[in-house]
Amino acid sequence: ALDIGRDLGLALATAGNFEREHRLVQELQELADYKTHLVATVSHELRTPLTSIIGFLELLEGDPGLSDLSRSAVEAIQRGSVRLARVVEELLVLHRTASGELEAPRQVDFTAIVADIVDLNTGPAERRSISVVRELPDEPTWVLGAAHELEHIVANLVSNAVKYTPDGGHVVVTLETLDQEIVLTCADDGIGISAADQAHVFEDFYRSADPAATHRSGTGLGLAIVQRVVDRHGGSIELESTLGSGSTFRVRLRAA
Ligand code: ADP
Repeated sequence: ALDIGRDLGLALATAGNFEREHRLVQELQELADYKTHLVATVSHELRTPLTSIIGFLELLEGDPGLSDLSRSAVEAIQRGSVRLARVVEELLVLHRTASGELEAPRQVDFTAIVADIVDLNTGPAERRSISVVRELPDEPTWVLGAAHELEHIVANLVSNAVKYTPDGGHVVVTLETLDQEIVLTCADDGIGISAADQAHVFEDFYRSADPAATHRSGTGLGLAIVQRVVDRHGGSIELESTLGSGSTFRVRLRAA
């Protein structure tokens, strides 16, 4: 009888725990939904005023009557606003790719996406004498997915490779299909990433504390976006890097 009483007590306690845990999970989920909603609303609301601030600053900058002091103030405000606008844009993309399944995936030609996005990113590279070499197949590479999301993979990897590579460096972007697997590789001979940082670079807002990295501006959201888009397409991403000699990011996606 004693044992039965103890077992019953245990069972009741477990049921109580279960209910408490269930409530806690529910509350956490509500909090997570609220956070997602808040981030989306705030970034969306910030976008319009920021666009007009940047527009008016451009107008002011063209005013020949500006004193030196005012001009340097306008330039500083402009740099700040552009940076803010970038954070807002990336937060919106992060939100869009944060959860849930892809809506209406389509057959997308990844060769064309890689070619276009690499071209768009070669401007900053040329200004700093960095060569960006494309090694792409002549034929389309079909992926089942969302084109506008897949573009973020290429844009973030290539712009990082250029940003974190000193003047005169090299970036090589390769796309190939190996046994039903599409492999996109973005390799640079830039500043590299320490083993300690490699464990964190895909986290939201993570930026290396290495002075070579911090003197380049960024939000720490680019690779978090890449990771989410890759996950949503059922792919994977790997990073190989040596501090001081360069980094190679490799994305694997299923061929459609
Ligand atoms: P950020 O906006 O800071 O560039 P990311 O999420 O794109 O944010 O990258 C996170 C961090 O990873 C960067 O701050 C940088 O320290 C490191 N990193 C990313 N790509 C490279 C690269 N190609 N070479 C060296 N470091 C890189």
